[in-house]
Amino acid sequence: MIFSGILISALIGGMDAGSSVGIAPVSIGSFLSASLSPAYARPPRRMHSITVPIPPPAKGVTLPRVYGPAEDPSRPLVVIDPGHGGHDPGAVNRDKGLREKDVTLALALAIRDALVAQGRVRVALTREGDTFLMLQERADMARKMGADLFLSIHADAADNPDAQGATVYTLSETASDREAARLAARENSANVVNGVDLGDQGNAVSSILIDLAQREAMEASSGFAGLLYREASPFVRFRGRYHRFASLIVLKAPDMPSALFEAGYITSATDAVVLGAKEGRGRIAEGVAKAIDVYFARRSASN
Ligand SMILES: [Zn+2]
Repeated sequence: MIFSGILISALIGGMDAGSSVGIAPVSIGSFLSASLSPAYARPPRRMHSITVPIPPPAKGVTLPRVYGPAEDPSRPLVVIDPGHGGHDPGAVNRDKGLREKDVTLALALAIRDALVAQGRVRVALTREGDTFLMLQERADMARKMGADLFLSIHADAADNPDAQGATVYTLSETASDREAARLAARENSANVVNGVDLGDQGNAVSSILIDLAQREAMEASSGFAGLLYREASPFVRFRGRYHRFASLIVLKAPDMPSALFEAGYITSATDAVVLGAKEGRGRIAEGVAKAIDVYFARRSASN
């Protein structure tokens, strides 16, 4: 995957600079095959005819604090992303007075503490307070820090009050089922403010990113999803189809294993009790931390 790595770093480089990303005037198919031949290992930058505007990087985004053995860069870095925040409360359970943005932050902090207690990985949070972050900013932050695993934390919602249990999502261009597509629409809408999609990068770019660079990361992400189920099942009640696929913007970093964990339904009376209590969140966090531990133990064993 060397060529695609180079290609993607060129694309991402363009994004980081806040400039436009060019797409070859030829069809995407021939652009891809050209890019994969050695002669085009570094794609020429001037064969462009259309440009896709990329929103400028948010000003003043400072990288978060690293916890755990922070001075030891040989330790894997896990970035935990508490979903929603600021003006975006996420899903709400009015009866129990629970907002997704508070649940995700409390759970992310509990996961951080569990990981720090294990002492084997470094860990950072994309937000530690009630702040709003764009979906791309979350993954960008993790990429800039060189994260080895990105885990976005959410809580699900459904009209059906009986819907309950946890699900882990990994990236796919097409959703695994209708419900996964609905979830993607809901979670991706965090970028839409007053009807304007602040994070729209254009479909052409996101398609290329997915086609070329993400295969390895997607495989690793799927591996993590399986481990999360296996290791966290004693602590977290999962749904029957515990691993689903969806086109989630927050997971679109091309080279970083990423998963989105819906820790339970905030709209379920049963799940809300667990999610709303420190002890319940502590159990979930323990399960997630175990999965992360096994994931990196396996990875270092295979290296
Ligand atoms: Zn959410």
